[in-house]
Amino acid sequence: MAVTEKYSILMVDDSSSNLESLSGILKNDYLIFKAKSGALALEIAAKELPDMILLDLIMPGIDGFEVLNKLKEDPYTRKIPVIFITGSENETDEERCFDLGAVDYIKKPFRAELIKARVRAHIGILGQLRASEQLGLTDPMTGLANRRSFDDRIKMEWYRAIRDKNTISFLMMDIDKFKSYNDTYGHPQGDELLKAAAKVFAEKARRPADLSIRLGGEEFGILLPNTSSEAAMVIAEEVRKGVKALRIPTADNKVITTATISIGVISMVPANEDRMEDFIAQSDKNLYEAKEGGRNRICQSTYVH
Ligand code: GH3
Ligand code: MG
Ligand code: MG
Repeated sequence: MAVTEKYSILMVDDSSSNLESLSGILKNDYLIFKAKSGALALEIAAKELPDMILLDLIMPGIDGFEVLNKLKEDPYTRKIPVIFITGSENETDEERCFDLGAVDYIKKPFRAELIKARVRAHIGILGQLRASEQLGLTDPMTGLANRRSFDDRIKMEWYRAIRDKNTISFLMMDIDKFKSYNDTYGHPQGDELLKAAAKVFAEKARRPADLSIRLGGEEFGILLPNTSSEAAMVIAEEVRKGVKALRIPTADNKVITTATISIGVISMVPANEDRMEDFIAQSDKNLYEAKEGGRNRICQSTYVH
């Protein structure tokens, strides 16, 4: 394999001998960067954008927790999978690492074979993720459909609804006061909320033809083919309640956060002369009304010929 095709790994440890032994284990299979401090690690991570980071937890100066936090704050480095390698005997450290977004936690002293196997497993997952991102149909953060796959699907469902004279419904959702949630708890925590909300959407819209979408930022949609306005309203209410019931702890576990969403719902039996764009625009208008009406609510309209 050519060197350039190798995945790259940044290793961070304040001990040179640890760095040497780790790189000895992995250097044949990966392109290795080394950093002897948290500060240097952040610098190299930003410059080289390694595929993975093996991070020592306890280091003088910027420790592993802080390095991970900083990586998560930077949109360019936030998705790099981080594996902690640590001699810490503290039980809660392990949980905290996962809460902060680490993908794995390996205790020292480690066996070379274990390191190889764990790294290989995570590189494998990374490869799969990239493949599905390249297909360009899912939103990597939430795993929901993205706007592009929505555009494809709604065309298909719209014309099917015209042909079969079926009701098609659409929910447009937006997180309330999300800017202040981000400002209060930080951007990575905002991402956790987006993921949790996405899970609610996917759980509540379960029919095979239903499609939950991340339209962009903190805006989501649910396409409900062959679904009456009454049924759409039931799902909207379940989704609203489901998000309101979320209890998402902050990374330091000090605060349990909550959030609400507003929803615009539109249902219609489309005819040839109707425009799909108007249908979507109406859900957006309804969403706007729900916001104006005080948020944490649903505004619905049904288009009748
Ligand atoms: P409203 O109730 O009217 O919807 O208010 P809002 O604060 O939710 O709306 P606004 O559109 O002002 O703010 C949206 C915020 O969403 C601003 C932007 O930084 C944040 N945002 C967009 N995409 C992401 C993301 O992927 N992750 C995080 N954490 N925040 C995001
Ligand atoms: Mg919002
Ligand atoms: Mg918004």
